[in-house]
Formats: sequence, structure tokens, C-alpha cells
Amino acid sequence: MSQFDVVIIGSGPGGYVSAIRCSQLGMKTALVEKYKTLGGTCLNVGCIPSKSLLDSSHHYEEAIHNFNNHGIEIGNKIKVNFNQMINRKVSVVEQTTKGIDFLMQKNKITVFQGIASLVDKNSLKIFGKEKKILKPKNIVIATGSKPGNLPFIKIDKERVITSTEALSLKEIPKNLLVIGGGVIGLELGQVYRRLGSEVTVIEYADRITPIMDSSLSRELMKVMKKQGVKFYLFHKVSSLNRNGKIVEVKAKDKNGNEIVFKGDYCLVSVGRKPYTNGLNLEKIGIKLNDIGQIEVNEKMQTSVANIYAIGDVVRGTMLAHKAEEEGVMVAEILSGQKPHINYNLIPNVIYTWPEVASVGRTEEELKEKQISYKVGQFPMRALGRSRASMDTDGFVKILADSKTDELLGVHIIGARAADLIAEAVVAMEFRASAEDIARISHSHPTYSEAIKEAALSATENRPIHI
Ligand code: FAD
Repeated sequence: MSQFDVVIIGSGPGGYVSAIRCSQLGMKTALVEKYKTLGGTCLNVGCIPSKSLLDSSHHYEEAIHNFNNHGIEIGNKIKVNFNQMINRKVSVVEQTTKGIDFLMQKNKITVFQGIASLVDKNSLKIFGKEKKILKPKNIVIATGSKPGNLPFIKIDKERVITSTEALSLKEIPKNLLVIGGGVIGLELGQVYRRLGSEVTVIEYADRITPIMDSSLSRELMKVMKKQGVKFYLFHKVSSLNRNGKIVEVKAKDKNGNEIVFKGDYCLVSVGRKPYTNGLNLEKIGIKLNDIGQIEVNEKMQTSVANIYAIGDVVRGTMLAHKAEEEGVMVAEILSGQKPHINYNLIPNVIYTWPEVASVGRTEEELKEKQISYKVGQFPMRALGRSRASMDTDGFVKILADSKTDELLGVHIIGARAADLIAEAVVAMEFRASAEDIARISHSHPTYSEAIKEAALSATENRPIHI
């Protein structure tokens, strides 16, 4: 039996980052992971493989639609080698997960492969190649999430699939039905649209990506429609049946009319649910809320004082960087520090093209909270940089307090929005005003100039290039 200061269950971005920070702070640390590879959802079947396929399919799309404009003629020679695309994704995942093995060794973290289950508040069992019992001083649960589903759908993992299978298909679907217009459905829908699938997104709400500022949802839908994706909003899926190679989905529109959709594959992307199976939480009195998340206080402490929980398995947005921040915070709390996370400043990103990224309050939230605000907006098409690369879709929208000019929200749709949002996060962390951004020099020509211009527009309605 080893004496660890902390044992972390789950090696996703929450767990492995927490383990590194615990070790940096001098704690004797162990990490338990049930799969052979470390990195959790994010590295194995989430962020990294999806971005790998988004990138590959983007190159293909560029080659077909834009190379001619750039004066690069490739004739009819171009074709997709889907097998190679998937193989490249596999090797990107392999390199990235091996990198975590290296980081564990470098930080002298003991890794156990097996399923962890709590025995009491001070001990846990690991069911692996060999059974082990550990009695650490503290335990951090970072067991993440799994794809959610609708109660009447059977995921067969062949043609009725989740994101996990969609990242490893053997062929490009002819007609891909996507249930759910959230981030995952849109990203993977766009991958297959680019590769030649007919893609139909069926969404229950009146807009895609309902948690983002509605102007972003509208713009993204407009651009994706131009790219050929079909959208059915306000459609409630009522049944799904598979007959051989055909998947049939029935949905009712807002007037109660039934519509039948047919495809050869159906991606069910209706959100994710926290994963706590086998942890034995009830027995030791760890409380869950009504949607199955582990309840934690502001220090990420569960109802049992020396057991903490972080990442997708607790409240808040299911994002890798949110899980990482919580992992670091728990480690620092355990070492006696007093860190905190500003959840309002965790950015949301969609890696479609154009990318979508936002931080802070949406216009809808400000209206609801009756906060008086002003808006500055600047279209990407007015930038020299955008014209040079032919990425003219999208805009930057800045929301600032109408009295103090403090930035309240920044919403971007456009090329490289995922990277651009970092400027807004920094600015808001330091409580900058729109005028602060407007007075800062931004390199020319870059997409970031749109942020400066939107800030100029929010400050005194004085953008330069429009
Ligand atoms: P996870 O990454 O889910 O890791 C949990 C780990 O715990 C798993 O490895 C699991 O095997 C292990 N585990 C569970 N139970 C036990 C047990 N009892 N014993 C031992 N081990 C156990 N987020 C972003 O920020 N950016 C993106 O671009 C992005 N893209 C995504 C794309 C897709 C297709 C998906 C599905 C998700 C994406 N996400 C993205 C979300 C991101 O992957 C998650 O928010 C993140 O992985 C959560 O990290 P975590 O550490 O909480 O849990």
C-alpha cells in the first residue's frame, strides 16, 4: 500500500493537468486511468482528433474551391484518401497521448491503469491487471463525460453513431443526419460536408448553438448553409429506426407536422452527460445533482471534505480548458493557496470555418439582467488581411458598459477566431474598457485589427475602415 498525498481519478485535461500541478507543488501524486492511453476524451476522442479532421477537410475544401482563385491549377486530379486522413488523425492522437506519458514521467507521477472505485472516504480500489488499494490523503475525481442520447434511440455504433464513432468512420457518409446543432454536431457535420456528404442538421431549439450570442448563431448558420449544410430548426426528433443501410429519423416541426429524414448515417450529438459509473459515490455519501453531476462548492470540494471533483463531471461548461483551470485550482487549494476561477471569462469556441469564439456576456444575457450596454461591430470583409486570404465571412462584436465603457462581452466569428479571443480574455481579465483596446496598436494586416475596429466602434462610433 503506497502513501500518496493525492490520487486523481481520470487522465483527461482536468486530471492530468491537476496531477502535474500537484507534483509541481511537492505532493506525492498518482493518476488512475481506465484506458491504456492517457488524455481522456479530449486527446483520444474529442478536441484533438476532431481538430485534426477539421484541418484535413479544410485543406481539401480550399483545394477544391479556392486554389483556382489563388492561381493554383490542379485540374481534376484532387481526391480524398479518407483512409489516410483517418490514419493521420490516429498518429496525431498517438503523438499527443504519448506526450502525456512523458509529462507523467517527467513530473514523477505514478500512473495506474485500471478502474478506480471508492471504498470509503480515505481509500480507493483499482481494478486493473492487478488489484490495488490506495489510501491517499486527498482524492480528485476527474472522470469526465460520455455522449448523451435521447431515450428512444439505440446507438449501434455502426450507422447510428456518436462523435466517438464519427471520428473513425471507414467511409464518407452519403447522407449524414445530425441530431443536435451544438458545437460537436456542427464541427463534425462540417467535416463530412466538406468531404462530400449531404449533411442535414435537425435541431430542437429555434437556433443552433443556443448558448452563444444569437448574432453568432445566425451568422454561422448563414455561412454553413452557403457551404451546403441543411438546417431544420424547431424540429423535435420523435423516433429513429435503422433498416439495413438506411437510418430513418422522424421529427415534428413547431406546427406538429411530421417530417421524415433518411440518411445512411446518423450522428447523435445531443450533448454529453457526466460519467460517474462504478465510482461508488452513493456509498460514501457524495451527492449528485439532478442531472448527474457531482455537487461541489467553490473550492471543488464534494460533500466529503477530502474528495474533490473537477471538469466535465461537475457543473459548468464542458470544455477542456475549463477542466484544466479547475485541475490547477484544486492542486493549489490542496497546497494551501487561495486561487479562484472567473467562470465568466472561460471562452467558448467552435472550430468550424469560419471559427466562432466568445467570452463574457451575450447580448441576450445583458438584456435579461437589464445591464445597459453599447455595441461595436466590425465586419471581417472590411479587413485587408481577410481579402488577402479570401476569408471575408464574419465579424467582431464588442459589448461594453454604456456608462463605464468596460468590456462586458466579445463575440467573434471569422478566420482564426479561436486564437483571436485570447486578446479579449486578457483585456477582460484586467477589466479593460473598449477604449483601452481601441488605443492599443494591432499589427497590420491581421485579423486582430477587426477587434480594434469593433472597439473603436463601441467607444465613440469611430471605426476607421468602414
Ligand atoms: P475527460 O477528458 O472525459 O477524461 C475523463 C477520464 O476519466 C477518461 O479518460 C476516462 O476513461 C477516465 N475515467 C472515468 N472513470 C474512471 C474510473 N472509474 N477509473 C479510472 N478512470 C476513469 N473541449 C474544448 O475545450 N475544445 C474542443 O475543441 C473540444 N472538442 C471536443 C470535440 C469532441 C468530439 C468532444 C466529444 C469533446 C470536445 N471537447 C472540447 C470537450 C472536452 O473533450 C472535455 O470538456 C474534456 O475532455 C473534459 O475533461 P475531463 O478531464 O473533465 O474529462
